[in-house]
Amino acid sequence: EENKMKAQEKQSEEEVKMQRKVIHVNRTEEILASRSKLPIIPEEQVVMEQISDNIYVVLAGETGCGKTTQVPQFLYEAGYATEGKIIGITEPRRVAAISMAARVGKELSLTSEEVSFQIRFEGTASSKTLIKFMTDGVLLKEMGHDFLLKKYSVVCIDEAHERSLFTDILIGLLSRCVVARKKRNDPLKLVIMSATMRISDFMENNVLFKTKPGFVHIPARQFPVQIHFSKVTPINYVETAVKKVIQIHKKLPPGGILVFVTGQQEVLTIIKHLQRLCPNTEDPDESVNSNDKKGAWRKRGQKPLKSVNLDEVKRFPEEIEPGSDSDNSETEDVNIDVDTSNLEPLHVIPLYSMLPIEDQKKVFEPPPPGKRLCVVTTNVAETSVTIPSIRYVVDTGKVKDKLWDKVTGVQTFRILWCSKASAEQRAGRAGRIGPGHCYRLFSSAVFEHEFQEYSTPEIKARPVDDMVLLMKSMSIDQVKNFPYPTPPDDEQLQVAEELLLHLGALQRPQGARKGHPSTISPLGLTMSQLPVGPRFAKMLAMSFSHSLAEYMTLLAAAFTVQEVLLEAGGDKALEEKWTAVRKKWTGVGQSALLGDAKVLIRAAEAFEHDGGSPEFCIKMGLRHKAMVEIRKLRKQLTNNINILVENQKEIILNPKLKPPSDEEATLLRQIILSGSPDRVARKVQPDEVSGGEDQNKLKNAYKCGELEDLVYIHHASVLRRTKPSWIVYQEAFEINGKIYLRGVVAIEPEWILVLCPTMCRFDKPLKDPPPYFDHTDGLVKCFMKSTYGKQGWELPVAQI
Ligand code: ADP
Ligand code: MG
Repeated sequence: EENKMKAQEKQSEEEVKMQRKVIHVNRTEEILASRSKLPIIPEEQVVMEQISDNIYVVLAGETGCGKTTQVPQFLYEAGYATEGKIIGITEPRRVAAISMAARVGKELSLTSEEVSFQIRFEGTASSKTLIKFMTDGVLLKEMGHDFLLKKYSVVCIDEAHERSLFTDILIGLLSRCVVARKKRNDPLKLVIMSATMRISDFMENNVLFKTKPGFVHIPARQFPVQIHFSKVTPINYVETAVKKVIQIHKKLPPGGILVFVTGQQEVLTIIKHLQRLCPNTEDPDESVNSNDKKGAWRKRGQKPLKSVNLDEVKRFPEEIEPGSDSDNSETEDVNIDVDTSNLEPLHVIPLYSMLPIEDQKKVFEPPPPGKRLCVVTTNVAETSVTIPSIRYVVDTGKVKDKLWDKVTGVQTFRILWCSKASAEQRAGRAGRIGPGHCYRLFSSAVFEHEFQEYSTPEIKARPVDDMVLLMKSMSIDQVKNFPYPTPPDDEQLQVAEELLLHLGALQRPQGARKGHPSTISPLGLTMSQLPVGPRFAKMLAMSFSHSLAEYMTLLAAAFTVQEVLLEAGGDKALEEKWTAVRKKWTGVGQSALLGDAKVLIRAAEAFEHDGGSPEFCIKMGLRHKAMVEIRKLRKQLTNNINILVENQKEIILNPKLKPPSDEEATLLRQIILSGSPDRVARKVQPDEVSGGEDQNKLKNAYKCGELEDLVYIHHASVLRRTKPSWIVYQEAFEINGKIYLRGVVAIEPEWILVLCPTMCRFDKPLKDPPPYFDHTDGLVKCFMKSTYGKQGWELPVAQI
């Protein structure tokens, strides 16, 4: 019987193979010439045989060997994009999705619709699409709608070695999806593409793959790279990197220079220095730095905030862009002490994730004749994008790392040493066209003793509430048993599940024991469809029923964007001016209690009214780029939600939204609370802390439900002066050892026990229906004593 089935299976697979029409492509001479140099080209047959014979294949090859640009073409030519099916490739970064789609389209002479890209805000995919490059989050969302991914014949997961959370989850899901598709005689192929590091995580993982995956290793064609360690490890690596570039440029034979730093701001700082030091060095595109230069704090030589925390940004899956986030590097003007006499001009180019598409393309263009190329980049160029003609690499050895507190979710950025594997990758970039040199701005002792072998898979280092919600919405209730390439800690899963239970996104059957797996609730299902993290998804869902969705989409967008309000940074006159603007926006009366949310609503309104010029933004104390991003996000959210609520009342994207009335403001405060059940803070009472504490310090202090330390409302918040007794916040972050709150809104404590009942303890056990609540006249009343959170703060009896 079994043999018969196997034979049948084999036969049907053969049939599928037969059906595929081989497609012939005519490539230009130029393209043929550049392709012929790639190590993967001679291996085409081996690669295609493995894909044909296996449902999963691991393809490992050094960066630049041609995986990303060539494998989709092999598949296309073998007919994988016929019969109405398409070829999908996922990338962890937007830069790669966009630039690789363009490159492959060009090599195949197909249109941007036929070889398309799809990222969160933009895309060229259509019904004509044959090959689709997308961020991993886009494919994850698609799997939420169609677990079997029926329109794909093959999915390639690129850069699998990076181990981003969503790549890991995709691989786990796809490992099951391909088996299901095989059973339906409509096979889907899974190709995992990776640089040659830590392949065993996939190859020797029998949780993930029941049968051994096919494997191809593309031999490297790499010239030797000489590594030069620094004798001492400099403190200011940005300054040292500039010096090193100048030295190389001055003394060493022709060849491009590639500099690795941690983020956009460092890239722009180095470029600014190089432009100043080298004569005739042209300005890179205005758009690259115009707004940044105008940022008032930078103009005045002020430092930006040390650390920035933005929870919800991370919850847009495809937003995750290692090394690209808001920057916190030092940008003071330093006097770089280096001999700049007789310097030749230098062609300096930036490359980082958020760089506009047109500017990204410039790295592939040859520099003007006679000029040396110098690309300053983040770890985007480590494996995702191969820049031709590099002979010298300057590696700071640093990487920007996001750090989450497992319990509280407080997040900070840290600049850390990258892993040894990353440093090797970076060095390798110098050996593409001939023997090269890598200058490491750290000592060999530091490298040996302080560098980790590999970087930690992301799933181990961040909250997973969005991931758990996604899984539960796909009816994967036993999240512990999911085939993770690297499983998260039980504690992480538990924290996520608890938050989702508090939000009401998950439910447990009545009387279920503690360990009983929770399932998605109707509210949770709605939340999982919304393109924001669970907290804001709850707020949006709540706002629908009160016709406040226009305000809530705006707020979700505004709270998601980082550093909307500029900081005067010690400039008294400017501070006064901006404070006055914010005060005016806050208004008076009940609606002023909406605090920072009110300011953001009014700021967006003012921005739209004015037409949104950068000059206007500076005048009003707004960061122009942030306001543009808010506009874009609002549009996107509005579209998404309108599609979701089909046929129902549409949310209108009204750029010139009126300020909310007192009544609307109160509802918004309640909605924001309902999405932030664990982010309540209470003003410290004078008699609450032991006498030793400086009473003056306590004047501004708050206590959070979950944190031991005292916390403070951030200077940029309008509620810092009014100091309401009870507040909710959106972010808690640390600057110089002090914890600050941002996105602050005043609440009434009695709301808590109605809107966040799972956070409360009642003096008698709650029964369902609760006999202690009385709903009359549209009011909810509660007639019992209750306390909030672990700290047991007493709540007044509620009537709302
Ligand atoms: P891998 O994915 O194995 O790292 P890629 O397929 O990304 O390799 O790159 C193969 C080669 O194609 C590299 O030498 C790279 O420089 C080149 N390449 C990629 N994109 C472009 C482009 N837009 N213009 C010119 N060359 C490109
Ligand atoms: Mg690649």
